[in-house]
Amino acid sequence: MFCQSSDELNELVIEAKKCVKHGKVADYIPELGKANPNELSIAIYYPNGNCISAGDIERKITLQSISKVISLALVLMDRGTDYVFKHVGMEPTGDPFNSIARLEMMDVAKPLNPMINAGALSVTHMIQGEDVKERLQRLLTLIQTMTNNFEINYNENVAQSEFDTAYLNRSLAYFLKQHRIIDEDIEQLLDLYTKQCAIEMNCLDLARIGLVFAMDGIDPDNGKHILPADVARICKTFMVTCGMYNASGEFAIKIGIPAKSGVSGGIMGAVPGKFGIGIFGPSLDQKGNSIAGIKLLELLSKNYRLSMF
Ligand code: GLN
Repeated sequence: MFCQSSDELNELVIEAKKCVKHGKVADYIPELGKANPNELSIAIYYPNGNCISAGDIERKITLQSISKVISLALVLMDRGTDYVFKHVGMEPTGDPFNSIARLEMMDVAKPLNPMINAGALSVTHMIQGEDVKERLQRLLTLIQTMTNNFEINYNENVAQSEFDTAYLNRSLAYFLKQHRIIDEDIEQLLDLYTKQCAIEMNCLDLARIGLVFAMDGIDPDNGKHILPADVARICKTFMVTCGMYNASGEFAIKIGIPAKSGVSGGIMGAVPGKFGIGIFGPSLDQKGNSIAGIKLLELLSKNYRLSMF
């Protein structure tokens, strides 16, 4: 039986919180550096609409890399799998999320997967629409439908702060443009990418996104497919193989569920067929994952046997 009460969840949060002191808030995006490292919150969303939560559940967080799973879902629907995987690969990498090293070592400079920054830039490039505004709106509409919250938008300060300092992402994008993986104006692409990463919501919204993935793309309220089952399956597979960047192997062994993290300290989890999880804990480990968030998932997985494996 899985955890049914917010009190049970609260106890696990208190236990997991002990490790926040071993991590550090991301500050390479200056706006993110303002987060309080001691926070930890979680929401769990069940298919019948029940939710349980612990911590400050109203707190809004930006998606950062979690957005990469949803932009991937959108381009798979826009362009089909053959086209998408001509521009981005399917293989995990042992390198950090923002590494440029592999691109130069490949025969074709195709990014290894859509969850590292190079791959995510290539995916964002494939989002269809007339201009940045329309492309962003299409992504927002998908996210609003998945959360059933039509107020969701991006945080302008966080987007601007990343846009002003995204030198490494610009380098990756220019490299990909040189090798014809990307053929749009790089400032325009960075404008869209940084707004995508700055889309913000609370843990409950994040948990509902996890639930839609967990239910093979189905909206829990009306039973309709928001995503085709095949798209949800591909996204979940990437969450298992690459969702925690170069910590995905250890995460699969210790926790064993599809999940995606972001440098804001968010983690979105999808327990197949069962529920969605949204976590916020901005103190990060060395690989850029929420340190207390991972501890919390480890406790949940152990206590309630969540591993798929
Ligand atoms: N916006 C961030 C970046 O591109 C996302 C990275 C992350 O969350 N790991 O650097």
